[in-house]
Amino acid sequence: MQKVPFVDLYAQYLTIKPHIDEAIESTIRSSSYIGGKPVAAFEKAFSEFIGVPHVIGCANGTDSIEILLQAFGIGKDDEVVVPAISWISTAEAVSSVGAKPVFVDIEDEYYTIDVSLIEKAITPRTKAIIPVHLYGHPADMPTIMSVAAKHNLIVIEDCAQAHGAQIEGKMIGTFGHAASFSFYPGKNLGAYGDAGAMATADPAVAEKARMIANHGQKGKHNHVIEGRNSRLDGLQAAVLNVKLPHLEGWTGARIANAAKYDRLLEKNEGIGLPLVKKGYRHVYHLYVVRVEHRTEVQKALAAVEIETAVHYPMALPFLPCYGGYGYETSHFPVAASCQNQILSIPMYAELTEEQIDRVSKELLKVAGGIEL
Ligand SMILES: *Cc1c(COP(=O)(O)O)cnc(C)c1O
Repeated sequence: MQKVPFVDLYAQYLTIKPHIDEAIESTIRSSSYIGGKPVAAFEKAFSEFIGVPHVIGCANGTDSIEILLQAFGIGKDDEVVVPAISWISTAEAVSSVGAKPVFVDIEDEYYTIDVSLIEKAITPRTKAIIPVHLYGHPADMPTIMSVAAKHNLIVIEDCAQAHGAQIEGKMIGTFGHAASFSFYPGKNLGAYGDAGAMATADPAVAEKARMIANHGQKGKHNHVIEGRNSRLDGLQAAVLNVKLPHLEGWTGARIANAAKYDRLLEKNEGIGLPLVKKGYRHVYHLYVVRVEHRTEVQKALAAVEIETAVHYPMALPFLPCYGGYGYETSHFPVAASCQNQILSIPMYAELTEEQIDRVSKELLKVAGGIEL
């Protein structure tokens, strides 16, 4: 019985090993550990990839959201609208700058923020919206941008799970006033440690963000403001420079693997498949199915050495850290029901046909045929 790991970063490394090894060695040879050529090269290449003029590397994706909020002057007494299901960073970054995260329920079909509910969450204190392209499926950016324009709000796209996702051929990260990216190792474009980036078309925001991420400096020792240390590491940038040219190929492989799962799992009442909105390009950071009795399904799959995960077992408003807001499941009914059914099955470019077959077969055995 061959184990199917949830992710296999080593399998990807083996496909590009000589180039990674050479990039790491050359970074060490030139001691470009902080800033320097690899970082500048990556910022330029990534800016060309997404088509946003300014890209600023930083230490991780969480910092990128936080620094962008600060660069837009968002802080104390402000409110920021975020989706009820995301990785905690989206809400945490808002609290970190002293503002209040205001949660909005998600769409049942696509798991992204329900745009029909955003206006109800807006108050005179609302300053921004952070849509998340969850699992790799774009949030409805055209609608979000029109709601934001009507209420004069800043939009920061959380693109941590969606490098290369598109709406009608337009890259995510180009819709909002700014975008944040994570290159955490398991993301679609992942470094070999923590890394992140901010992207914006606004030169003033870009300058401010760059200053904040590097101790508020405008040129060496000229600390115009107090900032922090959140720089992109040179070795991580070197790894990302090798990987970026492969991203489109890997994304294509993810999409093809998702299509195989779709084909093998469709027409089974007990398994809800991920849907894609018309004209949207889903990049399948995660392939998330819905099942009843998830704990049992996970256990049964683990017994045949198939690793799965849950993203995320508890929606943000229900986490202990937000207990003070007093949210109940009835406030976020969709998130409340999804959190008990969602199951992420193995998804990466290097998955083999046999692995996809085996995962599908076992999943059908344990979850197929049950009425959802
Ligand atoms: C991973 C992730 C982040 C944070 O990125 P880190 O690099 O881990 O700090 C933010 N938002 C979402 C939706 C993520 O998945």
